[in-house]
Amino acid sequence: MTANDMGGQPLTLMVVHAHPDDECIGTGGTLARYSAEGVRTVLVTATLGDEGEIHDADLTEEEARPRLAAIREGELRRAVAVLGVGELELLGYRDSGMIDTPANADPANFHNADPEEALGRLVRLIRHHRPQVLVTYNEDGGYGHPDHLQCHRVTAAAYDAAGDPARFPEAGPAWEVSKFYATAWSRERWQSLRAEMKERGIPFDEERQGEEPDEAERTATGDEGGAEAEEEWGQPEATITAFVDTSAHWSTAREALRQHRTQPLDFFLRLPDDLAARVYAGDFFVLLRSRVETTRPEDDLFAGLRAAD
Ligand SMILES: [Zn+2]
Repeated sequence: MTANDMGGQPLTLMVVHAHPDDECIGTGGTLARYSAEGVRTVLVTATLGDEGEIHDADLTEEEARPRLAAIREGELRRAVAVLGVGELELLGYRDSGMIDTPANADPANFHNADPEEALGRLVRLIRHHRPQVLVTYNEDGGYGHPDHLQCHRVTAAAYDAAGDPARFPEAGPAWEVSKFYATAWSRERWQSLRAEMKERGIPFDEERQGEEPDEAERTATGDEGGAEAEEEWGQPEATITAFVDTSAHWSTAREALRQHRTQPLDFFLRLPDDLAARVYAGDFFVLLRSRVETTRPEDDLFAGLRAAD
């Protein structure tokens, strides 16, 4: 067996995200690194983010809103090409919108989807692509967006169901995923980045003062974006179980993020190169379930799965 070959099955990473651009935030470097190393990479995106904001200066709300799903699909496909991701699978649900917005009620939402139906779709994709490693958000959905919570629920259920031949027999032969991870953010690295920004006088929300915090800022600061929430943002590194070095791929990850032109991602895009390189130097994960033995902390999502292990 080669290092990239597990019992005749090529090493495969499947990452499940809620919206276009989520793949770049917390997993961009990881997708770029494993793709570059010859691991098969599959991105599953549940919705096309059709409730998202429109910040592309070349577009107007009125004209772009009705075709936002198509615009964001184009952005996603460009980001995936930059990252080198091998396969993009779209689940085709409607974006549920931020919590407590009218969009929450749309029955076509991912959040409102029949859990069995959504599960069946993901099980079919897992059995088709046969990933050893599956990644999504933690049980809090990373920051509480309804679609992110649903991603966690459906993906956790799919980890069990895909390997059980009695479940969804029409969705292909059973495939046992070996490891299931949640994405994570290092509180220590966040605090050190913010300290460095303050020291250099780089404002956090330069162009958007007084506006509601958007998804990227919520992602980056925790729910409220206030000073206290900011201190508490992310999780202590002692609770993180996998540290993936993505420092060789930081500019690729940022270039992929840049493809999401409609999205308010200026926090990440505005950082000076050296700080951006720090943000993208590593991705962090918590191993939630595993069918193989590994030693923690890990520096490789495929630890315990490589031919030499
Ligand atoms: Zn999202």
